[in-house]
Amino acid sequence: GRKFRPEGTTITFPNGVVVGGKEVTIMAGPCSVESREQILLSAQQVKAAGAQFLRGGAYKPRSSPYSFQGMGVEGLKLLREVADMTGLLVITEVMEISQIEVMLPYIDCFQVGARNMQNFNLLRELGHVRKPVLMKRGIAATIEEVLLSAEYILSGGNYDLMLCERGIRTYETYTRNTMDISAIPVLKKLTHLPVFGDPSHGVGIRDFVPPMALASVAAGADGLLMEMHPNPDKAMSDGAQSLFPEQLEKLVAQLRALAPVV
Ligand code: PEP
Ligand code: MN
Repeated sequence: GRKFRPEGTTITFPNGVVVGGKEVTIMAGPCSVESREQILLSAQQVKAAGAQFLRGGAYKPRSSPYSFQGMGVEGLKLLREVADMTGLLVITEVMEISQIEVMLPYIDCFQVGARNMQNFNLLRELGHVRKPVLMKRGIAATIEEVLLSAEYILSGGNYDLMLCERGIRTYETYTRNTMDISAIPVLKKLTHLPVFGDPSHGVGIRDFVPPMALASVAAGADGLLMEMHPNPDKAMSDGAQSLFPEQLEKLVAQLRALAPVV
């Protein structure tokens, strides 16, 4: 609860980047790592836009088993290589317990995806690692359920936890999900944890990502997780919601007018 740490939790990463402080943290990159060329170009563009973290899935939770499932450990190695070349931190999704050990040498932050927010065995294991975790809200999870899932990680002794609103399933089908901006101030009130917004999965349509990113920060978000692809039309996953590099750059400049960005 917020009363435990009224000033809020801050997480300091190896290169000195602080999440949960006065500045807004930007995590950006493609939905999936697709090739060395694609992820290197992404890292350069994300860095140029002013982000601190490179995102990109190596293990992908796809709705269809016939869709691209990610590059696995090769993807992790590429993320580490290009992040080190450009001075970025790496956040990427963990889908199961056996991947934790494999991922540890290559990453700076574990991402728990919406589909795994109630994978309680995975959460329990992540409570025992000494590496930060960003946990997304489940596709149809209540705030209470988000908080209880967070407890699985915190109660294991890992306090370096961030929460992330990424849209929930409602009756509305125009947007991919319904971005629940109200979850951001509510989570900020109820917890001491840094809260992120993921407007990419929240709306699923590229041109609505910037306004929802700005809304998230106006609502108090400590950071944003967003998809950007060097060539979104050729993306192997989530191209329609991936920003063009110049859109990300323009958005970060607009965010700076609202709040300090790292
Ligand atoms: C992702 O970040 O690419 C992803 C799969 O997100 P979510 O778990 O929110 O669907
Ligand atoms: Mn995605």
